[in-house]
Amino acid sequence: VAVSALEGSATPDESGRVSNFDELIDNNARFAATDAKDHVPAIPFLPTKQVCLITCIDPRVDPAALLGLRLGDAIVARNVGGRVTDSVLADLAWISYLHEVKTPDAPWFELAVIHHTDCGSGLMADDELRAGFAARGFEDGTLLRTAVLDPARTVAADIGRIRDTSTISARIALSGFTYDVHTGRLTEVVTSARASA
Ligand SMILES: [Zn+2]
Repeated sequence: VAVSALEGSATPDESGRVSNFDELIDNNARFAATDAKDHVPAIPFLPTKQVCLITCIDPRVDPAALLGLRLGDAIVARNVGGRVTDSVLADLAWISYLHEVKTPDAPWFELAVIHHTDCGSGLMADDELRAGFAARGFEDGTLLRTAVLDPARTVAADIGRIRDTSTISARIALSGFTYDVHTGRLTEVVTSARASA
């Protein structure tokens, strides 16, 4: 199961410091000199585009690139597979609570879950590979349930989890998408208009 051909990895200098971030830090200096940071929402849980996204950590599915998002446009949560875990539900409940308490009259953001083809989380369905990881102290059933093998199916299941969570406002419109890493296209597979109030 080893993956070969890792290229371009930096080696530490004499001080033990790696340099892969040097270019990024230069980029940050240029960014800080622009006014982009000034064009952001006044209230962070009311993002500019009024959207919240949950998707995978896979670098091929960076929502900023896929969807043309800019700083302040969206609330984005990413984890392995883009799964709606208990942790994600707790975060959404917190944002929902803040919205209800702090900005009760503001329009609600819409929420989308995006799962993608060729997702590395699918490796968790490999019994031998998963067993090796479970032996490091992780729960086998939880790992198996994390695997995204059929993105349309797992998106639907995860939208269902959000819909069934009473601490997340029913006024948040939900939708689910699959993303094809080969075509670059999103397909909407779940639309869930909840309470219209
Ligand atoms: Zn993935």
